[in-house]
Amino acid sequence: MIQIPFNKPHLTGKEAHYMYEAVYECKLSGNGKFTKRCQQWFQERYGFRKTLLTSSGTDALEMCAMLCELQPGDEVIIPSYTFVSTALAFLREGAKVVFADSMKRNPNLDAETLEALITPRTRVIVPVHYAGVACDMDAILAVANRHGLLVVEDAAQAIDSYYKSRPLGGIGHLAAFSFHETKNITAGGEGGLLVVNDERFVRRAEILWEKGTNRAEFFRGEVNKYGWVDMGSSFLPSEVNAAFLWAQLENIEDIQAKRKALWQRYWEQLRPLADKGFFSLPDIPEYATNNAHMFYLVLPDLETRTALIAHLREQGAQAVFHYLSLHSSPYYHSRHDGRALPECDRYADCLVRLPLYYDLSIEQVDSICESISTYYR
Ligand SMILES: *Cc1c(COP(=O)(O)O)cnc(C)c1O
Repeated sequence: MIQIPFNKPHLTGKEAHYMYEAVYECKLSGNGKFTKRCQQWFQERYGFRKTLLTSSGTDALEMCAMLCELQPGDEVIIPSYTFVSTALAFLREGAKVVFADSMKRNPNLDAETLEALITPRTRVIVPVHYAGVACDMDAILAVANRHGLLVVEDAAQAIDSYYKSRPLGGIGHLAAFSFHETKNITAGGEGGLLVVNDERFVRRAEILWEKGTNRAEFFRGEVNKYGWVDMGSSFLPSEVNAAFLWAQLENIEDIQAKRKALWQRYWEQLRPLADKGFFSLPDIPEYATNNAHMFYLVLPDLETRTALIAHLREQGAQAVFHYLSLHSSPYYHSRHDGRALPECDRYADCLVRLPLYYDLSIEQVDSICESISTYYR
């Protein structure tokens, strides 16, 4: 019997209140006051140039890919150790996805191997801030600048996290956040945010978001009628989701403090076993902050991981593995160029995530750590 699930969505208490307010004021479709309030919150708190709420992180990534205006055969460098959406968004635009390996120290894109992947067709690099921990952005930006490439941050897990005091999502030309139920902050199950940091993309981002029309300019009084001017789709969420999200954003300090306390407890309790070499703990480089999105262990091999997950399940706690290498996935392996990506494969086999959510207690963390200790006794 699972007593401690891997994840449990958290309610701050104000969600239903704000959702009711949206209904009561008869404004349920997108781009109403809660949408604007959330977008402004991100722009003010993190200094993002322009933000647009979306129905999912996947949607935000698709908007990023559309904004890159790729030609068939253009290449996009993406870590193989990521969620499918990171690659799919660009593949849909006709790009060739070139998969990069992870670092030895953590699952993020290895900037040192980037240069070797660049060809005359390379257009975009997509760093994914795994577990909310920053990629080595200076190294990635140096390669991008040298070759005139765009940088799109997949910041799906990276809310309220920083690289050398710069907020993640505010460094690349474009970025995507997710408010899926498993992330630190949720918009009621599904949600996302497109961030536009480069002025060149602001106008077109609004048009894509408004189903290919220049309606945003019309509402601001900049044009006297609006019409179909470009590509686009239905990317914006309803006000009900934005209202839910607003209740969570208002409580971000509390949510983050609680998650960090739980994360820290895991770290302290598991440190002695890590020191004995049974597994490694999450790596936070000196240039990165920890937003306590995830607590993971990296075990020596697949067999040990499988056995530990089974042991924890018997003890009532649900631990889960994470991504499978995208370069060897059924959908893409025949198109992959055959390069081995050993670090990515290692994380696919050896990484395990432990329960981490707001309503988890310190006592529950202790009991999970105790279960892990008994496994090694
Ligand atoms: C969650 C996640 C996504 C997708 O976000 P959705 O909101 O579920 O569409 C994309 N990339 C990464 C790295 C994620 O963790």
